[in-house]
Amino acid sequence: MSLYSAHLITCPHCEMQWSQKIHRSVRVSGSPEVRQSIIDRSWEVFACPRCHRGVQVHQFPMVYLDMEGNLYIAVEARGETPWRELLKKHQNSFDQSFFFAPEVVRTMSQGLQARLVFGFGALREKIILHRAGLDDYLVEAIKGDILRERDINPSEIQLRVESVLDGGHLLMAFLPKAPPSVQHDATSSIVSPTRPQKWVTILADRYVARGAKRAKILKQYAWLSGNWIVDIHVTHPG
Ligand SMILES: [Zn+2]
Repeated sequence: MSLYSAHLITCPHCEMQWSQKIHRSVRVSGSPEVRQSIIDRSWEVFACPRCHRGVQVHQFPMVYLDMEGNLYIAVEARGETPWRELLKKHQNSFDQSFFFAPEVVRTMSQGLQARLVFGFGALREKIILHRAGLDDYLVEAIKGDILRERDINPSEIQLRVESVLDGGHLLMAFLPKAPPSVQHDATSSIVSPTRPQKWVTILADRYVARGAKRAKILKQYAWLSGNWIVDIHVTHPG
């Protein structure tokens, strides 16, 4: 069951206010249109009743649950709270949701891949990789390789997968350091798109070759623990 919170939306264009239900938890099983709207970036876009312009507002935190795909993703705002604190909070809430659940749900939850991401761009990327059957841990290591080759600090520029091309090649965007989410009210943010600075295509062969050396990843990128937060831009020490 999906859960909602009511928010008083203020249109950034004309300042009209209205009450809007926004997801704080969404189950995508049986609702592939939800997944698609996150991928095509039309998720939670509401038309202002006065000026009719689209306003995209996201609720934080939000949980994305795909039981059929075995994917559980908690989404937090990009902000000032240390990620370790948020990680603990989400691990506890995951345990509470499933540990005391009926046997059948508890068993199903054991196969779930759990992730904590910051911002909906990071959620979108995880969903795309998961749908393509790609290993996000490996993709993060490849990002680390590319940033090293170009002498780019992962705290300053972000690399995000835009799409998986035919043949399994990865189209990635270089994005400027993501600003903190623009606060709309206590638990929601107005979304403003970030324009890529440039693009890079990672050939499928490179992904396969990196996979053959998977065991070396932790030696090179110790901060990429491979558990819950699999994002070089979040756990990189700075
Ligand atoms: Zn308006």
